[in-house]
Amino acid sequence: MSVSEFIGKLIPMELFAGLRLTGGYIFRKKVTIQYPEQRMEPTDRFRGMFGYDVDRCIDCHLCAQACPIDIIHIKDHTEVEEDPETGKKKRKKIIDRYDIDVKRCMFCGLCEEACPTEPKSVWLTTKTYEMATYERAEQLYFDKERLASWEGVQPFPGVLPPAQGGLPDAPMGGAGAAGKEA
Ligand code: SF4
Ligand code: SF4
Repeated sequence: MSVSEFIGKLIPMELFAGLRLTGGYIFRKKVTIQYPEQRMEPTDRFRGMFGYDVDRCIDCHLCAQACPIDIIHIKDHTEVEEDPETGKKKRKKIIDRYDIDVKRCMFCGLCEEACPTEPKSVWLTTKTYEMATYERAEQLYFDKERLASWEGVQPFPGVLPPAQGGLPDAPMGGAGAAGKEA
């Protein structure tokens, strides 16, 4: 046994290496926050609760086709309307059903990416993640009304549900909310 190996056995150097690492954290800024009184603000690219705007949606089904696990369900019918000014008949699609089975969603964002409207008609960049429920089968299956109203969802402080004017690019109207008090 060499001298350095002998000293190494007498003094557990790994212990000092561990203590040095631990000591380095003592003086760092603490990241623990007092949830739910305080919340960390997710980044702008965070994908949370869905937003959906039926008025912007052009019923193209591209979001449903882009979804790799087929959890967006759209049903529609076509109505023929007469233009009161010209008397010409126009075909108009009516969205009867736009549902997302959010409990199965993997928040990949492909549906949002596929949506061609500007702003997007379906989007996930809402910063809102508090969707816990005691019953997942129905409560995490959202129809078009709940996708707009967010009934049963706790919006991130400052974020507006789509029915109240929340938009994909400015869910909080551009206002920051870092370390926000609830
Ligand atoms: S985010 Fe969810 S709904 Fe959208 S494409 Fe991905 S799995 Fe489907
Ligand atoms: S891709 Fe956008 S516009 Fe097309 S059906 Fe889906 S939400 Fe509506």
